[in-house]
Amino acid sequence: MKKNIIFLNGKFVDEKEAVVSIKTHALHYGTACFEGIRAYYNKDTDSLFVFRIKDHYRRFLNSAKLLFIKIPYSEKELRDLTIGLLKKNFEETDIYIRPLAYKSDSVVGNFVLTKLSDGLAIYAVPLGRYLNTDAGIKVNVSSWRRVPDSSIPPRGKITGSYINTSLAKTESFLNGFDEALLLDNQGHIVEGSAENLFLIKDGIAITPPESDDILVGITRDTIIKLLGKFSIKVVERSIDRSEIYSADEVFLVGTGAEVTPVVEIDRRTVGNGEVGEISSQVKKAYLELVHGKSPDYPEFLTEIKK
Ligand code: PMP
Repeated sequence: MKKNIIFLNGKFVDEKEAVVSIKTHALHYGTACFEGIRAYYNKDTDSLFVFRIKDHYRRFLNSAKLLFIKIPYSEKELRDLTIGLLKKNFEETDIYIRPLAYKSDSVVGNFVLTKLSDGLAIYAVPLGRYLNTDAGIKVNVSSWRRVPDSSIPPRGKITGSYINTSLAKTESFLNGFDEALLLDNQGHIVEGSAENLFLIKDGIAITPPESDDILVGITRDTIIKLLGKFSIKVVERSIDRSEIYSADEVFLVGTGAEVTPVVEIDRRTVGNGEVGEISSQVKKAYLELVHGKSPDYPEFLTEIKK
């Protein structure tokens, strides 16, 4: 951001002052949780629209609870702090907001989460497209498995579990793919490295259930609602690996990825290899909604003026 004002531990400070010690627990052990929230700039209204901020902060508070991180603010207070931050940093561009709550002690070898202190930061950065949403992407099924709920709960957005994302994404990148799809330990396709997954077969949308070691995505929920509006039936059930090769359409969804069509999986074309009709329809509706250009779901948008 041009102004680079960050909220850190109770104060708005310049980015230069928003620093932590090299000894910070979270840096060594991944003991932090975070959110990724988008705010879209709308030229017509000259305002930013933050998407589903309430739901993001609800999930953030639940992730923090999982790690025994105490956040001294309610969901409403976190929202207000974020609105304040965006007003201070206002820019005419699409923005990504990153709240981060972390174990802040400078200690070695204390793993009792309840005995550690907590820190909180919120900052914003400009962010355009995360993946090639127009042409569609080529993906592979990763040799890395999704971390199970019994090890590091994917339901929480925990920094340490993004090692799983990084290993999978790096393997895909080095092998010439755009993104990875991960299997759980039962061999079901569960999600992308940082996106939830939908497939379309014979006009029906299928997405893995919340109990299949996924991050329960806010975009996933939005897409389920949009598909419902288009009278497309959505089934939440486990997906076998071989099912995705015969899907008519596959797309990945997430705050960063928005709606990203998949045109190739493990070097097999999805459908006829072109972006599918339902994927295009859902993507268009999603982008209109998040930009504040749709009359639907006004409760999902928080408008911020300069
Ligand atoms: N799964 C993972 C592992 C993710 O990191 C993300 C991105 N937050 C998602 C799914 C999508 O979640 P959301 O739609 O809430 O951004």
